[in-house]
Amino acid sequence: MEYKNDLSFAKQLDEEDELKSFRQKFFIPQHNGKDSIYFTGNSLGLQPVTTQSYIQQELDDWAAFGVEGHFQARNPWMPYHEMFPKLLSKIVGCQENEIVVMNHLTVNLHLLLVSFYRPSNKRFKIICEAGAFPSDQYALESQVLFHGFQPEEAIIEVAPRNGEHSLQTKDILALIKEHGDSVAVVLFGGVNYYTGQFFDLQKITTAAHEVGAICGFDLAHAVGNVALDLHNWQVDFACWCSYKYLNSGPGSVAGIYLHEKHITDTSIPKFAGWWGYKKETRFKMEKGFIPIPTAESWQLSNAPILSMAAHKAALDIFNEAGIERLHQKRKLLSGYLHFVLQEINNRQAENIMEIITPANETERGCQVSILMLQKGKEVFDELTKQGVIADWREPNVIRVAPVPLYNSYEEVFRFGAIIQSILNT
Ligand SMILES: *Cc1c(COP(=O)(O)O)cnc(C)c1O
Repeated sequence: MEYKNDLSFAKQLDEEDELKSFRQKFFIPQHNGKDSIYFTGNSLGLQPVTTQSYIQQELDDWAAFGVEGHFQARNPWMPYHEMFPKLLSKIVGCQENEIVVMNHLTVNLHLLLVSFYRPSNKRFKIICEAGAFPSDQYALESQVLFHGFQPEEAIIEVAPRNGEHSLQTKDILALIKEHGDSVAVVLFGGVNYYTGQFFDLQKITTAAHEVGAICGFDLAHAVGNVALDLHNWQVDFACWCSYKYLNSGPGSVAGIYLHEKHITDTSIPKFAGWWGYKKETRFKMEKGFIPIPTAESWQLSNAPILSMAAHKAALDIFNEAGIERLHQKRKLLSGYLHFVLQEINNRQAENIMEIITPANETERGCQVSILMLQKGKEVFDELTKQGVIADWREPNVIRVAPVPLYNSYEEVFRFGAIIQSILNT
């Protein structure tokens, strides 16, 4: 696509956008009586207009039926979570038996590591990206300590080369190979939260398997954002949250994926609870855990229906939009943002910003991380003043994520125009 940094061009793209009506399905935060430019869907996705009625329905059924709501609610609570695998399997690329929606992200990461990080004296290392999201770093560190190893020895980080911001796939693969049979688990974010780099999950998985290691991903910034094909890539396990690109509300229920081959493997230990127990006989309340033969056997507790109702409202919108169409628009929209920023940068006598997100379309999703070389805080404050909701990270990075469900090309144009206006002053 030949982009142009002008308003009528942006409006034209919006006009031709098949998904343009989806913006109306969300509440857009207001700024001085107008829609703000909400570019933080990577942090907390916006609220669907339908969320209230989905939650209200469960409140009404609770009022009407009390405990009988488990069976008599319009969406009975007992099998409520069974509605999710169908919707999510298209988003993460796997079979329905490989998914379960439960708990929260960091909790699930720990539960998955209980199953898949079982270090021995020979094989005890975890390979991850340098600068992973802090919660993941703490999870890994505490798991290593829990098993009696030292984080400095057991956690191996892949860092960018000098002067670079993103990781080179070949460096990741080389490090996995170098540590060989001392590697227990390779664990990466699918998309790095800071740089927005989308890693090559398939190649990383293959490299991990070649040294006999397990490979898992934290997809917090990848799910609902980039195209995933977990099952075919042979990924062993993954987890994600639902409140970022999936728009399911602050602290809403999370999800996990496990490859089918692990699900019925009884040699894999797990922490168990009654909700993972065989459904047919769960209420006999007998001793001896008998697992459900799907990913559901990793469930511990009964399902949080109210947050699941919010999750359902959002996933129904994804389903209606269609994940392929979302990917198409996401590529055009973030491509446009790259173009507009580059164009502004090129107009200056010297570089005023550096985009640290990979330019290559296959190595990124919605997010663009801009390292401001000059006037960083000034630009950010003016953006805020003019109703742009973006994210500032010390020392000088502005992260923005135009998302295909509710952002427009015009918003991308206006974002660029505000930056331009500050540079002109
Ligand atoms: C957002 C995010 C988290 C947050 O974890 P919670 O358990 O949901 O609070 C963890 N890891 C990554 C990579 C994230 O992006």
